[in-house]
Amino acid sequence: MEPIRYYSTGGKAPAVSFREAIFTGQPPDGGLYMPTEIPRLSLGELWELRGRPYHEIAFRALRPFLVPEMPEEELWRITKEAYDFPVPVERVWGRRYLLRLDQGPTASFKDFAARFLARAMQYFARESNDQRIILVATSGDTGSAVANAFHGLEGLKVVVLYPAREVSQRQAKQMNTLGGNVVAVACEAKFDQLQALVMRAFEDRELSHLNLTSANSINWGRLLPQVGYHLYSYLSVAETKDDRPVDSVASGNFGNVTADFLAMRMGKPVSRIVVATNENDEFPAFMETGIYKPIKPSRACLSNAMNVGNPSNLRRLFHLYGGSIDRQGNILRMPDMDALRRDAVGISISDHTTRLTIQEAYERYGIILEPHGAVAWAALKRYLWDRSEDTLAVATETAHPAKFPEVLEEMGVEVELPQSLRGLDERPSHELKIEGSYSELRELLMSLR
Ligand SMILES: *Cc1c(COP(=O)(O)O)cnc(C)c1O
Repeated sequence: MEPIRYYSTGGKAPAVSFREAIFTGQPPDGGLYMPTEIPRLSLGELWELRGRPYHEIAFRALRPFLVPEMPEEELWRITKEAYDFPVPVERVWGRRYLLRLDQGPTASFKDFAARFLARAMQYFARESNDQRIILVATSGDTGSAVANAFHGLEGLKVVVLYPAREVSQRQAKQMNTLGGNVVAVACEAKFDQLQALVMRAFEDRELSHLNLTSANSINWGRLLPQVGYHLYSYLSVAETKDDRPVDSVASGNFGNVTADFLAMRMGKPVSRIVVATNENDEFPAFMETGIYKPIKPSRACLSNAMNVGNPSNLRRLFHLYGGSIDRQGNILRMPDMDALRRDAVGISISDHTTRLTIQEAYERYGIILEPHGAVAWAALKRYLWDRSEDTLAVATETAHPAKFPEVLEEMGVEVELPQSLRGLDERPSHELKIEGSYSELRELLMSLR
């Protein structure tokens, strides 16, 4: 069996292995890595997995992409270790479900991607005997998921930079109480400035001996593992082999939803993918008109992790439909719109509707949503309003409601903190502080080894 290679959507960079794709992060031509081939699982193979634990389904989803580049036993170990938390599929009513992706250690669905990537990086780094420093700038949730995922993994260090004034107290605690191989750096700078610092460090030749590595959301190693839960949700809700659920996917930078398109290509039966966005409606507008206009600056909505006005992963989605779009959002080749519209629909949900949806779900079904999941649920409802009551459907809930106490308190809903977030306030913080100049960052990185 030949290992699957990865090409760049930019079209001007050579194809690479999985290992190179995850350590490079982004191809040198500004595109994103995509597999040259998408393996298929037959309906029979899928159905054999029904009722199996989550980590096993994730293993089966990843195996054709990784083996033989990674030995099967290693992949089994990694998926088992990464996915040691529950993945509840909650019935809301009839055949309408909620896929709760909020039970990981940082109570965000980003744990699914980060925990796999961290372990895959550890395996490949160990194999080639190199030390690596993972360097990330974050405005909140991504940093805590990444820091947590790498925490305690031998041979890897993580440096996470965050804007001291832009992250919440709890988010900072999620990063700066870990210690060990996680270096948390609070900066007196804005997120955009931190991103620029990080870019500069990656380009700095005098730091090349540090093997600086990114783990940001465009990394192929973060997108791929998300296929696992999209297969899992299908296997959890399908009652017969004829069932083809409607999926509503909370979407910001489109990693979550692109993984569902991949799952569909791999053979998962889906009748429609509802691409659920907040008021950043550039994609729903594109689906309707065929004209794509990034929203700049992005609109600040309640579901803040979805405030993206020009999703990076659109480059991958376009490629899946024979199209091409550049990083700035200029369409170079139109995708097959008929096929795209057959498979998917874009629906934008306002903050007002998001609030009403949280309230209604609680009052009618006793279900507690937070803003991101509420966008997915509301979009699903809108899509299904004139369709049969019997339609099988799943919406993704991507964060734990306890992370959004303000929104829930407004409505008199109280939620208990999940285990992972309890006691956080009492844990001691260890954070380094810098103003935000490049020389400070450089010095800090040099001192790490
Ligand atoms: C990142 C994030 C999203 C959006 O996911 P994308 O893969 O960027 O589309 C949705 N909800 C939460 C809670 C997130 O953290």
